[in-house]
This record gives sequence, structure tokens and C-alpha cells, in this order.
Amino acid sequence: MNLPIRNKLFLSHLLLVVFIAGTIGVYFYISASQSLLLRLQERLQASAALIGPMIDADEIRHLRGIEDTSRPDYINNLAKLRTLRRMNPDIAYLYVMRQEGEKVYFVLDSDETKDQALPGHEYKHRIPSLLQGFTAMAVDDKIIRDEWGSFLSGYAPIRNSQGEFLVGIDMRADEVTDKYRHLRISGLVSLLAAGGLAFVLSRFLADRFMVPIDLTISRCARITGGHLDEQISLRTNDEFDRLLGAFNTMSATLAAAEEKKRQVMASLRQARDELEIRVRQRTNDLKEVNDKLTREIAERLAAQKALQEVATIDPLTRLYNRRSFLEQIEHEAIRSRRNRRPFAVVMVDIDHFKNINDDFGHAAGDSILMETALRMKGMLRGQDMIARWGGEEFVILLVDTDLDGGAIVAEKIRRRIADGIYYFAGETLWVTASFGLAEYQGETNLEELIKAADTALYRAKERGRDRVEIHRAQQPGSLS
Ligand code: GH3
Ligand code: MG
Ligand code: MG
Repeated sequence: MNLPIRNKLFLSHLLLVVFIAGTIGVYFYISASQSLLLRLQERLQASAALIGPMIDADEIRHLRGIEDTSRPDYINNLAKLRTLRRMNPDIAYLYVMRQEGEKVYFVLDSDETKDQALPGHEYKHRIPSLLQGFTAMAVDDKIIRDEWGSFLSGYAPIRNSQGEFLVGIDMRADEVTDKYRHLRISGLVSLLAAGGLAFVLSRFLADRFMVPIDLTISRCARITGGHLDEQISLRTNDEFDRLLGAFNTMSATLAAAEEKKRQVMASLRQARDELEIRVRQRTNDLKEVNDKLTREIAERLAAQKALQEVATIDPLTRLYNRRSFLEQIEHEAIRSRRNRRPFAVVMVDIDHFKNINDDFGHAAGDSILMETALRMKGMLRGQDMIARWGGEEFVILLVDTDLDGGAIVAEKIRRRIADGIYYFAGETLWVTASFGLAEYQGETNLEELIKAADTALYRAKERGRDRVEIHRAQQPGSLS
């Protein structure tokens, strides 16, 4: 059943109380009605027992018909009966009956109306308690209806009855039922009062039961809303106290955990801020160190480059120096042997250079050296190499070139130098140079190769300068 707990509690209390009150009420109603019936029966019996001996059977034995109503015995005993009836307002009728065989007749009847039963009037109803009343006291166990109405009656034999006469006492049924109705009404009123009381009490109990539950629900909602430290001060002096205590402990624990979390978060934030500052400082330091290192590296690289240049480049002509040339020719020799390709070496020496120095000065000599170097370099392929051998001497490495190819290149260079005009300080100068050419052929010693070229150069000097001489290995001595 999908009902709120408040209604369930209310209904269960109400139904329980109404059920118990109803059961008890019914029990008491039944027992009260039984005791009422018993009390009425006892009164009827007691009255019958009291009145029975007051009528003497011997005085009325001869009263048998209407004609006997004028007899003094009838009149006296009837008056006695009527007096007795008037003395007891509960009693409707008092009467005396005779039993003859199976039949029962009236003898006396206290009724003062026209319905009065006269002597000899037969009573046709066969009522066991009445028949029993001729010999012993008896009383109806239920209301009997006859032509005079509905009654509850008690019976007792009269004095000297000898089982022939009885006195009957009728109590009106409406009086009995009145009493029953009073009993029912008071029972109903009690039941309604119990129901009303149960309603109020059930409502009160259900409401009271719901107070800690409603309070806990509303506090839970507040906790959900972020108000963690919600305490309930209500005390119910029952199991709810444990629930409320557990709730209070839980909310206090939550609040403490939240506070701890807040503190941890704050210290984390602070640590993060400090770390950020430290990282920034450290980054700046590292940047400074890095910049310094970068500068130092750049300076060292520049110095290294300068050193390398000093080691490999001739400062005046900006050509490779002798050492670079010797390294390069070593590599070229290896490459040549591997590829079985020739290469040629040309030694160049400026003719009468001493005279230039002498005639125009050392600066003019330097200028001629630079200009000559530039011109020679300009006529070579990218893969060829020219170096300053020393003084006014140069050496050229011609890659993949044999003696014939080398001779052509050397001749072209010679002509370029000799045909060119040099200027220095307003002076016009002519320069020539001599060339000695040799070819590398695998097995040749490099020093010998250079020496061979040098020898050819020497021969060019000897033969008048401004010329190219070739060293031919297979024809020693024939170098031209
Ligand atoms: P030859 O035709 O026989 O080669 O005669 P030469 O005068 O050129 O030869 P020599 O060896 O007698 O003279 C070379 C001169 O070159 C001597 C030296 O002063 C000069 N010289 C060497 N190096 C330099 C230099 O770097 N600058 C200048 N200006 N002169 C130099
Ligand atoms: Mg020389
Ligand atoms: Mg010279």
C-alpha cells in the first residue's frame, strides 16, 4: 500500500484501538445484556417466589368460569393481585393459572381493561417455562408474544398448588427492549467516544512519531545544500535518540572532514603558489644561465671557427694553407685509388716576385698575391682545390683530371694571370707565373708527386718562366 508513513501509523493505531475497543465493547455489551437478562429473570423469579405463597390454591380452586367472578374469593384474590401489581411498577400483569391435563386456564388476571382474562379462559400457547412453573419456579429465557403483547415472564407455584396452579408475572417486552436500547446506546456512545479518542490519540502519536523523521529529512536536505554541521537537539527518549545521535555524529564528521579538506586545499594552493614563484625564479635563473651558456658557446664557436680558420686558411689570400692541402690530397689519393680515377697537382710560382716587392713595396706584393689567388680560384671547378704553398707559391689539386686535362687548366690559368693587368697605388703592373704539373697514379708517393710537380715548376723557371711544364712519370727526364 503506497501510503505515507504518517497515515500508515495513524490508520494502524486507529484500527487497532477501534478493533480492541470494539471487541471489548461487544464483549461488555454481550455480557451486560446477558447480565441484564439474568437480573430481570432473577427479579421476575424473586417476585414470583414472593407472590406465589401469597395466593392460596384452596381459596381459588373452585373458580372455574365467568359465573365465579362475583364470588368473594375471586374478588378478594383479584384485588390482592392488583394491589401487588400496583406496588411494583415494573410488572405489567399478574395472573393465576390452572393446569388441567394438557390445557391451561386463567383463574385470576390483574388486567384492569376489557382484555382481562376471566376465569376459565384457556391459554393456548405451549410455553415450556410456563408449564414448568406449575411445579417449580421458572422464568422465560426470551421474550414471548401472545394476544396481550410481548412479555418476559416469571412463574411460581402458589401455596397449596400441588402442581395445579401457578402465579405468572409479565414484564412488558418494550420495557425490556428499552433497557436493551439504553444499553446499546450507551455502548455505542462509549464506542464512538473510544473511536474519537483513538482518532485523536492516533493522530497525536503519528504526528509525534513523524517529528524526528521530518526533522532528520529537513536537516539531510540542508546537508545536501552544503550546510554540513547540522545538529538536531531533539530528544525522544526512545530508539530515535540513537538515530538522531548517529545523524549528529555523521554531520559533525562531515563538517570536520570538510574543514580538513578546506585546510588541505588552502595549504595546497599556498604550496602551489610558492612552487610557482620558485619555478619562476628558477626559470629566470636557468634562462640567465642558458643565455650565458649560449653566449659562451657562441663565443667559443667563434673562437673555434677563428682557430680553425687560422689553422686551415691563409690569412692574406683567404686560400687554404699548406696543411689543409696536404690533408685534402690524402683524402683525394684514397678516393682516387678506390675509384681508379686520376687527379693532377699543379705547383705555381709567381715569376720575379722579389722585384715587385723591391720596386713597388711589400704592400704591392701582398696585393698581387691576393689578386692572383682570386683570379686562379675563379677559374677552378667547385670540386678542385687551391692552396697557398708558401711565399708567392700556390698548389692546385685538380680532381678527376689526368695530365692532359691538367695541362689545359694550367695553361688557361697561366694565360689569365699573364694577360691580366694589376693596379696598385696608381701603378700598372704585369705579372706572370710558372707552372709545374704532375699526375697521381695510385702507387705514387704523395711527397714524390708534389716533388714531381715542383721539379716540373723548376724546369719551367729554367726554361724562361711564364710557362707550364709537365712531369711525365713513364718518360723520366722528358717533362714537357
Ligand atoms: P723567381 O722568378 O725565380 O721565382 O724569382 P723570385 O723573385 O720570385 O723568387 P725569390 O724566391 O727570389 O723571391 C721570392 C720573394 O717573395 C722573396 C720574398 O720577400 C717575397 N715574398 C715571400 N712571401 C711574401 C709575402 O707574403 N709578401 C710579399 N710582399 N712578399 C713575399
Ligand atoms: Mg719562389
Ligand atoms: Mg718566384
